[in-house]
Amino acid sequence: MKTRLVFSDLDGTLTHGVELGPVFFDSISLLEKQNIPLVIVTGRSKSWAHFLLTHVPYLKHIISEGGGNLSWRDEEGALHDKLLVDAREPMRLIEATNKLYESFEDLELSADSFGRETDRAIELGWLKSDPAREKQIKDFFDKENVSWSESSVHLNYWCGDISKYTAVSYFLKAHTDCSEDECLYFGDALNDESMFKHFPLSVGVSNIKDVLDKFKFKPSVILEGAENEGPYGVYNYLSNHLK
Ligand SMILES: [Mg+2]
Repeated sequence: MKTRLVFSDLDGTLTHGVELGPVFFDSISLLEKQNIPLVIVTGRSKSWAHFLLTHVPYLKHIISEGGGNLSWRDEEGALHDKLLVDAREPMRLIEATNKLYESFEDLELSADSFGRETDRAIELGWLKSDPAREKQIKDFFDKENVSWSESSVHLNYWCGDISKYTAVSYFLKAHTDCSEDECLYFGDALNDESMFKHFPLSVGVSNIKDVLDKFKFKPSVILEGAENEGPYGVYNYLSNHLK
């Protein structure tokens, strides 16, 4: 079936390491020629969604905070947001975060947690530097009924029913006439698993190999080789797939 809409993760998928380079814009040009929208589905905060919508005109909708928020730019250029979780859950998240600070005084939330509404993030570098503490933190979340997931850069945690797939599914119904089998998803990390589980066509860029054995549900296509890392894999796959 012809692809009418492309969804993609940001970090490690549209960026190479942390670099948002020219190849990202090459993919955008490719999609633009065929009039196929790109919707980024990222674990980054709502503020990042606003930045991308403002400075990359081809992007019209972005799902951020791992599925907690949908942001879009209207015809006049004004930005809008929709919370995709029950409004009480962000309040419960504030309480859980306060409790976490009481238990771990040196806790390092990511700098972009400041702009987050439906989740918070802990830097993976800090978290992984002490495996015993990492386990305590994850146990704390499980005990408090707080969900968590690892992206390529953060441990994100949130309250309520939030996932990339739940948000994408809502978006497809509310904002498009596309079915899932007319779409494509690119990802590279464990926070993409809900999309790999449900989407008929999902593609893992080759750097996914570092975490591949941790997945219960893998992408339907797994790219290989250094030439298919992150945005290069996205560009190469789109070039072949959209012919
Ligand atoms: Mg990623």
